Amino acid sequence: MTCILQLGPLTDRFNRALAAEHEVLRLWEADADAMLDQHGNGVDIVVTSARFGCTASLIDRLPNLRAIISFGVGYDAIDVAAARARQIAVSNTPDVLNECVADLAFGMLIDCARQMSRADRFVRAGEWPSGGLPLASRVSGKRLGIVGLGRIGEAVAKRASGFDMQVRYHNRRPVEGSVHGYERDLVELARWSDFLVLTCPGGESTRNLIDMAVLEALGPKGMLINVARGSVVDEPALVQALLDGRLGGAALDVYAHEPHVPDALMALPNVVLLPHIGSATEETRLAMEELLWANLRTFLERGEVLTAV
Ligand code: NDP
Repeated sequence: MTCILQLGPLTDRFNRALAAEHEVLRLWEADADAMLDQHGNGVDIVVTSARFGCTASLIDRLPNLRAIISFGVGYDAIDVAAARARQIAVSNTPDVLNECVADLAFGMLIDCARQMSRADRFVRAGEWPSGGLPLASRVSGKRLGIVGLGRIGEAVAKRASGFDMQVRYHNRRPVEGSVHGYERDLVELARWSDFLVLTCPGGESTRNLIDMAVLEALGPKGMLINVARGSVVDEPALVQALLDGRLGGAALDVYAHEPHVPDALMALPNVVLLPHIGSATEETRLAMEELLWANLRTFLERGEVLTAV
């Protein structure tokens, strides 16, 4: 029988179904060291998520590991190089979440520009009868910069066309055949943009890509929308730029040290704070689960995964 090491809980439905079909070791419910000492040799497959990842040191403790099957598209928390070195297959769940993550990014953009969350807090606090809010920023017709025009970035760009926005983007290289303008220099893209949306991967190659120079170029009227990873932004620089008014606003779904949100951000009215919910709809989570199952079953049948990282 295949032995699966599950690193953390996914949906209740998935946890139950996996345990019904396979011998499952639940690492998060156990003394992890003791479990790995006792059962590490017998583990064939790791089931994990973008959140729980899979480190090189864990891979080292699983000498017979053959596959890492992950829930989520981002794999910055999985040591893919360590897996590759041992020819361990790694899968993620791309594409099925594009629309919902892009919906959220666009919702965050509108919220930040039009102060929707702020206005909601204003009404709930009973402040409407005695005061008003400052005027907001228009969304339609503005300039949208996208950092990472991939699957999710394209879905964000598609939404922008309905708002008559101009779109430019920055990737490491231009997307062949793209109708959107490419900007090799990220600071230049930020200078041009009213809104800068981040949809690139996390990990070392993008760490602190959004630094003070980029934030200052985006400027006191510019807004940053991050649905990528907290690691992509120099978070202390972001906090400082917002406190100093060097950046106009920010809408964040991801943070450097989740679930920690810097205290300074909590007090700022021009910041929208979400708890990493990009793909968190019933429909998308079900589709992600189904793709995870398809990867697992295909690996068990044929020794390969459908959506390899
Ligand atoms: P894709 O791989 O399709 O797109 C990523 C894009 O980023 C590519 O266009 C790539 O272009 C660009 N990119 C990669 N590295 C760099 C770099 N160093 N500098 C600039 N651009 C770069 O990924 P997806 O669209 O499927 O997903 C993107 C990310 O969104 C995920 O990795 C994940 O971190 C995040 N995400 C967040 C969610 C949330 O809940 N908030 C949910 C789902 C995903 P090129 O290679 O040419 O540079």
